[in-house]
Amino acid sequence: MLFPISLIMIEITKSNPNFIEQFYSLGIYIPISKTLSSLTSFTDFSIFELFVYSIVLFAIFYVIKTIIKVIKHKNKIFNLTKSALTICSITSILYFCFTIFWALNYYRLPLKDVLDYDVRPSTTVELKQMCDSLVQTANKLRPLVSEDENGVFKLTNKKQSALSDVNNIFLSLNDNRFSIPYANPKKVLLSKGLSNLNITGIYSPFTSEANVNMDIPDLKFMATACHEAAHQHGYAREDEANYIAWYAIMNASDNIEYQYSAVIHALVYSTNALYGSSPEHFNEVIDKYSDGVKRDLNSHKIYWDAYDTKAAEVHETVNNYYLKSNNQEDGVKSYGRMVDLLLGEFRTTGFEY
Ligand SMILES: [Zn+2]
Repeated sequence: MLFPISLIMIEITKSNPNFIEQFYSLGIYIPISKTLSSLTSFTDFSIFELFVYSIVLFAIFYVIKTIIKVIKHKNKIFNLTKSALTICSITSILYFCFTIFWALNYYRLPLKDVLDYDVRPSTTVELKQMCDSLVQTANKLRPLVSEDENGVFKLTNKKQSALSDVNNIFLSLNDNRFSIPYANPKKVLLSKGLSNLNITGIYSPFTSEANVNMDIPDLKFMATACHEAAHQHGYAREDEANYIAWYAIMNASDNIEYQYSAVIHALVYSTNALYGSSPEHFNEVIDKYSDGVKRDLNSHKIYWDAYDTKAAEVHETVNNYYLKSNNQEDGVKSYGRMVDLLLGEFRTTGFEY
């Protein structure tokens, strides 16, 4: 019953983004997620991760139990139907919670309307100007950050300490759309496993936890943590969470290393888009990287090249399907639309950082 109710709820609200924005995203979503977040705030590791392992163990146990029952008992059809109904009920309850606890946020107003940016198709020249501006900022910040023995960027403080700064950054924005006092993002215990699937973080609506892969290079760590925190604040769309990570850090943190992470995060998306429309302009831009920036990007690439695995490919296909089924019709490509928001900001206010 709960599954069709969830689908009907999505169908009704889909065409009313204003209603969703006011009554769900800025309304009942906040007490729901805040309550869940405070209930799970007593650990610095992800409770959701343990929940996933328990579900997997339970599923294995349940399948074995059902097989034994079917073999032993006469009434095979009855036992099989009963088990199938139990699985459907559990899935249905989980899907209902997913919808009520978070997924309606996929249908809220687009961020460009909330921030009132002039977002529209841009010329390659405009995109190149923005990339140049980002490179300039990256080169300016780079000499001020710490390096490891290989001359590669590293966070002066540990990643755990960076995580504990995330909520303060969002609170410092002083904006009720982004400043809800949630628990800070949490570490994933089996982070290397996530790297194998090319996952940098996961937001869990069931526990209101922003979970971060602790194994990824320092370069994009803070941007990733803030991306997951943006999901927690009710911004479900990937491209918007990407933009908010940059926006929150650049507007509310005076930590140079976090700013450097945000600038590189924006730069990677922008230069990828530039490469798609003009490899010539792209080459001109990357020629301007300082040696330090080059070392950092190179080391980042080496890390991810090692995880270019079959499992990652499977995850990408599954994620593509997941995004499509949640109103992200461009699938994985929608990650790139962050650049439109950056261009909107660049065009509307310039980057005054
Ligand atoms: Zn995300």
